Amino acid sequence: MEREPISLQDAIEYFSDPTNCRDYLVARRWPNGVECPTCGCKNVAFLANQNRWWCPTKHPKQQFSLKTGTIYEESPLGLDKWLVATWLVCNCKNGVSSCEVARALHITQKTAWFMDHRIRFSLNMGPGNKLSGQVEADETYIGGKARNMHADKRAVKITGTGGKDKAAVMGILERGPKTVGSKVRVKVIDNAKKKTLQSEIREHVLAGSAVFTDALKSYEGLDEFQHEVVDHAVEYVRGEVHTNGLENFWSLLKRGIHGTYVSVEPYHLFRYLDEQAFRYNNRKGLNDGERFDIAVRRIFGKRLTWDQLTGKVETTSQLN
Ligand SMILES: [Zn+2]
Repeated sequence: MEREPISLQDAIEYFSDPTNCRDYLVARRWPNGVECPTCGCKNVAFLANQNRWWCPTKHPKQQFSLKTGTIYEESPLGLDKWLVATWLVCNCKNGVSSCEVARALHITQKTAWFMDHRIRFSLNMGPGNKLSGQVEADETYIGGKARNMHADKRAVKITGTGGKDKAAVMGILERGPKTVGSKVRVKVIDNAKKKTLQSEIREHVLAGSAVFTDALKSYEGLDEFQHEVVDHAVEYVRGEVHTNGLENFWSLLKRGIHGTYVSVEPYHLFRYLDEQAFRYNNRKGLNDGERFDIAVRRIFGKRLTWDQLTGKVETTSQLN
């Protein structure tokens, strides 16, 4: 097997060879030998001329490919395109627009958009252990691109500094050692009321942890935590009490959304949050090849269909 890729150029070259795609994915998905995704049978036959496997047990999908049982399933696009698109999404610091992916892979923007969303969906790691130690909590607002709007529309749309016409986003960040960096979870929320913000904190932070917030009234009463407040009207940092980790994440997120994407519909915002959180949480001590490896391991056992993506079927937002 050739050396595994560590740069975009490597990746394009490496994954242009179907044998390399197979080696790379099999090593991660089936380290102990290929198994049928439907029944788990290990006694499968490789059909080299079709680049598929055949399971001897009688059931639907007796033949399966590398894409079966992954977010790439049933896509007519080849793994060369899928793996390079995944590389771009997980490694481009400010995100990559579907226009850029379309140009890079010679596909339509609509196809690239669907691919990007499926990749973002796979990056969501789902609920994990509760955060602990020193934790920051904060909320921000996203949307309301006034500068691209016609004046009369702008007057109607922009009604204040936060809230209305913008999506509220909540972030919770666990501080970590310099080598690993902090880890963030983000989610679109209905409002910034006490009940909403505090239930997220209680769900995601271990009781007894140090929780740092600003002076927003919604954070009053977090009594089971060592809650410390920094009043931004007075100061931004008081020793360890600050929310600068999240402020930094918000600026990365907004740079990504406003700089890279022409528009993000509120309905799809949570997927961009997942994407940015993945890159943030895997930014330290990893090269692009290692970050891609982590991303690829998340494509297995997941599906996102067009109907789910476009809202014909319900999917839920998780605090990632
Ligand atoms: Zn089987």
